[in-house]
Amino acid sequence: MDNKILFRDEDLEQFSKWRTIEKDKCIACGSKQFSPWTTQGSYKAVQCDKCGLIWMNPFVNDEGLGKYYSDYIGRRRLNNDVKMEQRKIQYQTDRDFIEHYISDGKLLDVGCNGGFFLDVLSKKFEKHGIEIDPEAVAYAKKSYNDFGGNIRCGALQDAPYENATFDVISMRGTIEHMTDPVSAIQKVSQLLKQGGYYFITATPNGDSFAADLYRDKWTLFHPVQHIWHFSPKTLSLICSKFGLQLMAKDFPYLGTPYEKVREDVKLVAAAIKLKEKNPSVELPVSPPFWENMMSLVFVKI
Ligand SMILES: [Zn+2]
Repeated sequence: MDNKILFRDEDLEQFSKWRTIEKDKCIACGSKQFSPWTTQGSYKAVQCDKCGLIWMNPFVNDEGLGKYYSDYIGRRRLNNDVKMEQRKIQYQTDRDFIEHYISDGKLLDVGCNGGFFLDVLSKKFEKHGIEIDPEAVAYAKKSYNDFGGNIRCGALQDAPYENATFDVISMRGTIEHMTDPVSAIQKVSQLLKQGGYYFITATPNGDSFAADLYRDKWTLFHPVQHIWHFSPKTLSLICSKFGLQLMAKDFPYLGTPYEKVREDVKLVAAAIKLKEKNPSVELPVSPPFWENMMSLVFVKI
């Protein structure tokens, strides 16, 4: 008999021995008051009573994440054409969000993976990227003549870029994976020129209707990958400490390749009914929905 606890076909319990980092206070507001939010197998998520930040507590450390993500690029991305195609369209939406504000200058994409997002950005940018996965870096280096040489392997915090050199820093679906997002944001602030832009896109919004309704069945909940579920409010709390001011926010859903609005609404309506009848009912995994994902732009003041 196989008694493994699976999370959406993945055996995450094998990474629990690296689950060594525990926070006794909220990284956004400093409050020591937080409450259980949900559980998945032996993984636990909590929510700050004061600002609403959600995080896995404890969570998997960098060594464990390294094991988890090894070969991630091959396993999850290149081998799935439909997902790659959807992601490509979403890249264009995120590009438009950024280029509404700025479309030239020196840009750094943090967590750039195989360089896919950098590739869709305007050629007027001088493009740089940083990524912790060496295989993704190798792929980017050999795939893009124009910026492949500007892709660096490693953590942002250790990168030897000069202070105040970038006009734009982007993190696309990155900040929720980081074990130390506060020091990463501090570094972003150091590297940006005054008046420079910091974009956070394709990031799950913990302050969303579906997150609250579905909890561990929320489609963006992942006990290993998504350590933090931020919101515009909680990211603003952190960013404002480092002179980064929230300028605009967006919640891409309608028009994205992920929505099927009529079906999504029906599924969520059915889930609300089920919960009303029985609050401890096991819901199916949530569909894409409004407010699930957020795009934010901050300015260095
Ligand atoms: Zn808090």
